[in-house]
Amino acid sequence: MARQKTVRRAEAVVVRNGNGSRDERLALPRSERRLNFGDKWSYAPAPEASDYIKLRSRYPLFINGKFVAPKSGRYFDSINPATEENLAEIAEANAKDVAAAVSSARRAYEKVWRKMPGRERGKYLYRIARLIQEKARELAVLETMDGGKTIKESRDIDLPLVAAHFFYYAGWADKLDYAFPGRRAEPLGVAGQIIPWNFPLLMAAWKLAPALACGNAVVLKPAETTSITALHLAEIFQQAELPDGVVNIVTGAGETGRAIVEHPDVDKIAFTGSTDVGKRILQSVAGTKKKLTLELGGKAANIIFEDAPLDQAVEGIISGIYFNQGHVCCAGSRLLVQEGVFPHVIRKLRDRISTLRVGNPLDKNSDIGAINSRMQLEKICELVDSGLKQGAELVQPRLRLPAKGYWYPPSFFTGVTASHRIAQEEIFGPVLSVMTFRTPEEAVERANNTAYGLSAGVWTDKGSKIFKIVSKLRAGVVWANTYNKFDPTSPFGGYKESGFGREGGLHGLLPYVQLT
Ligand code: NAD
Repeated sequence: MARQKTVRRAEAVVVRNGNGSRDERLALPRSERRLNFGDKWSYAPAPEASDYIKLRSRYPLFINGKFVAPKSGRYFDSINPATEENLAEIAEANAKDVAAAVSSARRAYEKVWRKMPGRERGKYLYRIARLIQEKARELAVLETMDGGKTIKESRDIDLPLVAAHFFYYAGWADKLDYAFPGRRAEPLGVAGQIIPWNFPLLMAAWKLAPALACGNAVVLKPAETTSITALHLAEIFQQAELPDGVVNIVTGAGETGRAIVEHPDVDKIAFTGSTDVGKRILQSVAGTKKKLTLELGGKAANIIFEDAPLDQAVEGIISGIYFNQGHVCCAGSRLLVQEGVFPHVIRKLRDRISTLRVGNPLDKNSDIGAINSRMQLEKICELVDSGLKQGAELVQPRLRLPAKGYWYPPSFFTGVTASHRIAQEEIFGPVLSVMTFRTPEEAVERANNTAYGLSAGVWTDKGSKIFKIVSKLRAGVVWANTYNKFDPTSPFGGYKESGFGREGGLHGLLPYVQLT
């Protein structure tokens, strides 16, 4: 059967499916047919100023406390995904550059950092935290320009949490004996840390702060599409007079990451990224003395029971999947709704996504920014197509996306079954898969029916139900009547193919110490 692209056009939403049928429960009531939420919610543009941002035309590597040209002699472009404008050239580190970074880290570890009393290390971390706070505005704008995320997210979520992580672990630096009573916590040595593009500075903070607090030296590699803010963080390390070589930053893509993983003088690998790459790293370090933590993908389920506060639940779903372009490992990308409230929830969801503003991420009024890269956009489109081909029905607001840049409208699928790829694979975009359930047991079974186990959400009025469900969910983090709330004191990490090890809190110290 020829694929039917558009089966129905209402004022506010477009519903597409792959087989021509449609779910009558999604039809707009007659009284609402003239609503055009786009107009109702239009505000004057309010872009954050970016003219004071000083971008270098070329970003070298940061090794031994200095910015140095790569031995490879190679650079690649970093693009603003909202405009496709070239922001800067970034150095591409090869195996020799990585070796120089590792030996600089080893020297700093042996000669300075491991010998320094915890209270002194803590002072550097406090200083770094305060400098991050001072430069928060500039770093937030840079994060948005380089990664495409909204300024609302980078300014109000990422940067405050980045500073909070340094403050929090600064406090632990001289209290490691209290963290592990009766045991002695020794640093591991040189940590190789590899991070993804969705929270560039925050992932750097999650990794750097506990490693440094425990006395390790670091070689950090940001993701190839979002390296710029890590290099501005390097300038902060210089201003804080962090001893040379304690943190080294090498930029590049998978090959650079592989060189860190395979370097024999690295004692620990901390990786956050996709499950596919995580599995390759696991194979590579097997049989070596290297310690490993893996923070990988997710396919979180948000479970809405009939007794849930539905407005609050829908708002939580919206912020959990759309406000971050779906670029969150713990994004609530599956929605499980108890059958009795399904039509009600769908109607609310449909109305709410029609009010979301997609556009210039530097505009304070934008709810959804740009997709991080063309490659990621293609991945989202391919998975959405697979959902249509497998018979699910797609609901999207009718909105005009900017002509340049990488964009995807907030969307959700109904008619999804557990075997559909959109119910199993990480889409990493603003696309939600909605399914129904009848009993709490069925909800738990469906939520756990995935290879991942990073996070989940439960929405219900009953505290007893929360405890009962939460204890059966195979997910590292479960939020109840809220979603995507983070704090440096709380550990975060996964079950199953979402990885192992925890970051944040007291647990976040463990991967960076040897206990004797
Ligand atoms: P990715 O796995 O493609 O890349 C992650 C990092 O690994 C990048 O820096 C990349 O250059 C590097 N890399 C690529 N190949 C490598 C190799 N062979 N050896 C060593 N390093 C290599 O992931 P991504 O697309 O950048 O990020 C998205 C993924 O990250 C999603 O799956 C998301 O769920 C996951 N993520 C997980 C968490 C968590 O805390 N669990 C947090 C954020 C993102």
